[in-house]
Amino acid sequence: MKTFKVAIVGAGPAGYFAAQALQNSQSEDIKFSIDMIERLPTPWGLVRSGVAPDHPKIKTVAKVFEKIATAEGFRLFGNIELGKDISLEELESMYDAVVIATGSSRGRKLGIPGEDLPGSFSAADFVPWYNAHPDFADVEISLDCNEAVVIGAGNVAMDVARMLALEPSELDTTDTAEHALSKLHTSSIRKVHICGRRGPEHAAFTSPELRELPKLEHTDVHIDQHQISEAIKRAEAQGELPKDLKSNLEAMQAIAEAEKKGHERSMYFHFLATPLEIKGDGRVEEVVFGINEVNDGNVKATGETFSIKCGLVVSAIGYQSDEISGLPYEGGKVKNENGRISGRNSYVVGWAKRGPSGVIGTNKSDSTDVMKLLLEDLKEPKSGSDVEKLLEERGAKIVTQSDWEKINAHEVAKGEPHGKPRVKLISRTEMLGIK
Ligand code: NAP
Repeated sequence: MKTFKVAIVGAGPAGYFAAQALQNSQSEDIKFSIDMIERLPTPWGLVRSGVAPDHPKIKTVAKVFEKIATAEGFRLFGNIELGKDISLEELESMYDAVVIATGSSRGRKLGIPGEDLPGSFSAADFVPWYNAHPDFADVEISLDCNEAVVIGAGNVAMDVARMLALEPSELDTTDTAEHALSKLHTSSIRKVHICGRRGPEHAAFTSPELRELPKLEHTDVHIDQHQISEAIKRAEAQGELPKDLKSNLEAMQAIAEAEKKGHERSMYFHFLATPLEIKGDGRVEEVVFGINEVNDGNVKATGETFSIKCGLVVSAIGYQSDEISGLPYEGGKVKNENGRISGRNSYVVGWAKRGPSGVIGTNKSDSTDVMKLLLEDLKEPKSGSDVEKLLEERGAKIVTQSDWEKINAHEVAKGEPHGKPRVKLISRTEMLGIK
């Protein structure tokens, strides 16, 4: 029987699904010893720090992760940073294979004047702020304005817009960061604009997310009915509508037609609006948009503009990977061929491999495919020293699976009296004190 040692860097969905694929491919002849290395003292990646707090069902996938993590041959090395506590070269020499599952955490830039004004944020800062990521708890977000603009027509933009437009008491029984919840309770924002540069037929939203909007109890959601019927006409002129597009357009039409209750809080969709400039004297005051039109399926600027007065701008226009020293990058992701990284015993999965696309489940098939290639490449297991010994010699404070289980239990217990799934800890010191 051969036992191969695999290090997985990054404890998010892609990393766990890679571990699961390896576990599932074990036989009487082959076993895997899997070490998952994670920079934070807490695992689960975007399931913890990305998924919107009002979407608890999506987070139930964490149960799957915990099953993977408690299977034989799996060890968690939390609070261990690649490039600081250990290098990629060291991992590659100690393990038969290394799997990079570090995602894409850096927000793409708009590249327009005013983008860096106070009051303008990337969703890459805003989302981890409301999700209690330790590195973003101190982001200074002010919600003392009446209107906010969210740029982008994808699900992250929708999450951000919804978080800003919800009646904050709806978040009281969620795991929203305590600091964000108290800010949201005193927020003056009553109108949230969500702006896509192309038409409704090109939007990256998915229909389940659109369909929940008319059901919001304290927020009216507005989409211009004419814009949707024009989009449907244009899309139908291109041929039979693909199922997902049809469902999206129907969901947008349902929002447009839904009765508006006159709520104090509202959300407005704007399409065919390219952000040109963020204006303001010392802080965000207004966003200027170029108006576009669609001709023969192509989106073109009309030369006309409009602007929205606001005090907060969040751009949710996609992500790119933070670069790890020693790895080749191309187009914001690790340069790879179907997950193989040329010339080394490292592989890449998830957003670091394919870019920021797909839902959590997409990572299951993606990671499984890459692990098939990893399996094909394995020859004889390496013998060598254990990473735990090396990390301990370096004085690293490892958070093991059982340490994490204590942190997890602490957070869940703290949430219980308030009807919350958990109260997330933010301070690394506090987390390390519990372990
Ligand atoms: P996304 O789905 O790729 O959407 C990005 C949006 O930004 C697109 O509308 C894009 O427009 C727009 N954009 C890009 N550059 C722009 C620019 N310079 N100016 C204006 N707009 C610009 O990315 P995402 O929203 O970050 O989501 C990432 C992935 O996570 C997606 O697969 C998403 O479905 C998934 N996710 C899922 C959920 C869920 O299931 N509930 C929640 C959150 C995220 P163009 O199309 O014109 O480029």
